[in-house]
Amino acid sequence: MANGQVQQVNGVHKTLPRLQIIDENQHFSQELPEYMKEWGLADSGFNYNLVAVFGSQSTGKSTLLNRLFGTNFDVMSETARRQTTKGIWMSQGKDMNVLIMDVEGTDGRERGEDQDFERKSALFSMATSNVIIVNLWEHQVGLYQGANMGLLKTVFEVNLQLFQAARGKEKTLLLFVIRDHVGSTPLENLSATLTNDLERIWQSVSKPEGLENCVIKDYFDFMFTTLPHKILLPKEFDQEVVKLRARFVDPNHKDFVFKPNYSKRVPADGFHVYCQGIWDQIMSNKDLDLPTQQELLAQYRCDEIATVAFDAFLGKIKEFRQPIESGKIIDDLGPKMEEIRNATLKQFDKDASRYHSEVYNRKRTEIFNKTNSQLHVFFLGQLKNLTKKALTTFNARVQASLKGEYDFAKVVNDSREEAESLFSDGAKSILLTKTDWTYEEEYAQLKEAIDEISAKSRVEETKKMIKTLEKSFQAQVSEFVSLYFKTPNQDMWDKILKKFEQVLFDHEQLLLKRAKSFNSSEEENAKSIENLRKRSWQQLRKKIDDELAENIFLLKLRERFEEKFRYDEEGLPKVWKPDDNIDAHFRKARDEALNLIPLFSTIKIPDSVELDIPSDDEFNFEDSLIILSETKQHDLSVRFKRESDAFYLEAKRSVVATTAR
Ligand code: GDP
Ligand code: MG
Repeated sequence: MANGQVQQVNGVHKTLPRLQIIDENQHFSQELPEYMKEWGLADSGFNYNLVAVFGSQSTGKSTLLNRLFGTNFDVMSETARRQTTKGIWMSQGKDMNVLIMDVEGTDGRERGEDQDFERKSALFSMATSNVIIVNLWEHQVGLYQGANMGLLKTVFEVNLQLFQAARGKEKTLLLFVIRDHVGSTPLENLSATLTNDLERIWQSVSKPEGLENCVIKDYFDFMFTTLPHKILLPKEFDQEVVKLRARFVDPNHKDFVFKPNYSKRVPADGFHVYCQGIWDQIMSNKDLDLPTQQELLAQYRCDEIATVAFDAFLGKIKEFRQPIESGKIIDDLGPKMEEIRNATLKQFDKDASRYHSEVYNRKRTEIFNKTNSQLHVFFLGQLKNLTKKALTTFNARVQASLKGEYDFAKVVNDSREEAESLFSDGAKSILLTKTDWTYEEEYAQLKEAIDEISAKSRVEETKKMIKTLEKSFQAQVSEFVSLYFKTPNQDMWDKILKKFEQVLFDHEQLLLKRAKSFNSSEEENAKSIENLRKRSWQQLRKKIDDELAENIFLLKLRERFEEKFRYDEEGLPKVWKPDDNIDAHFRKARDEALNLIPLFSTIKIPDSVELDIPSDDEFNFEDSLIILSETKQHDLSVRFKRESDAFYLEAKRSVVATTAR
């Protein structure tokens, strides 16, 4: 690394590192960022200063810097009093946040060399330094035509180019150090002479348009000091150097050199980029002005800072992807996203906020929008999962509640409330501040889906309810039809239909009562009642058909016949005697049995009963009143007659048998 003086730090010999930031071939060093770290200045923000030195060659500049700041810049040996290298060296001042630049070979004009590097290094120093030490011999003071004055003219010109826009606000301190001060001319006189000369030089500098009347003090502050002869008065020299050093390290010193408005406003972390940019601009002979440079720097650095912050951001949000894609709901997603977003901005702000405010604000909006759009994906994903969960919850809740006695409308409302607040609470909790995010659409979709499920469930539940009613109806019909058919007689239909009417009415009332919990409309209720009537009637008809199946009906006829023919009035079995008119008995019994056929063949609705059973394409109420067709009736009577003949013969035979005995 560096060469030069060796210092003792904590008992360890350590060389204070220095860097040739611009080499003799006018190349800019790529090692500046590392040196900034090495010097411990990389993270110092605005909390650092920069001092450069100008002056003729071999005027003891490097010697002075080394003494003042503990640096180890090369000092020309006493014997070889000529130095031809050109370049700019940089080092940190010992125990201070100050960068020192030793500008070598700036006075080519004395030897008639080209002044190109002089101008370049002046531009570079002015663009970076808060304080410029102008080093000169006492005997050079007042030599207006001297090399120093030419150099100062260059400095002024360059300064106007760089800082015209910053007039009166940002300044540079020119600290004149008058070397080998003999003492016969007091400092005041020397400074007066120099001030006078500086004014004259300023007047000779051509001013840009609009700045014709600007004064030197708009851009510079001045300080003057003297140092005794280093070789003749070494002790005094050392004492004065120590005093001078105090102006650089003691903020309370009345001549403290680092005033805030001398700062070039380059954050330490962008210093290398800035220097490189300035030097590139100088080398390509392009117009150089600091506001543009600072904006370019800000763009470059803010981009870098944003990239680092955004990469960290991406790393942090990675954990959300898998759970959300697999349908999970992440607890605290909102606060987590907010926290990550804040941390990202904080990280960005920490370094970027020092840069050109317009650029910084623009980039900040950029990274803010970028983080938001990344997070929005998770917002939408979580909304989707919340919707799913809300629907599952709704379904489960409804299913669990539709048991036993329940009020369907209440079940649905409660479940809906639970599901919807699950969604909206969840959605609200992931709405990030300062975004235009909404969940209205998803919420509306969820509500629609719930409506759809409710409607379906309502239809099913209504069906279930009607089925239950029908079953209960069927059980009752079955019972009373069987009962009344057991003793068939003329008012049998009266009883059956009155009972039917009453049971149907009861069930209609039940239906209307239950329908209330389904929030059914009048129209729906009318339809349900109509269906119930039709179904009930069909059930009645079916029960009648079942009861009157051919064989069962024949049995009924036989029962009636036997009851009349084989049993007497007291219900005792008849024993036929020879005088008995079997034929008459038989005919009467058979006719009574046969009379049942027309009785059963048609349902007779009594006048007191009013039935409103609707007919349709498949069902005709009037037709349904006929149970046994004419043909059927005829068949049945033929079959029954044949069957009854057997009883007649049996009766006849029993009489013959008793008589023959
Ligand atoms: P630079 O070229 O301006 O950096 O000058 P140097 O620091 O390399 O010094 C050039 C020579 O001047 C060296 O031989 C030093 O010993 C000598 N020198 C340094 N300081 C002083 C001083 O205050 N007075 C005199 N007369 N000579 C000095
Ligand atoms: Mg030197």
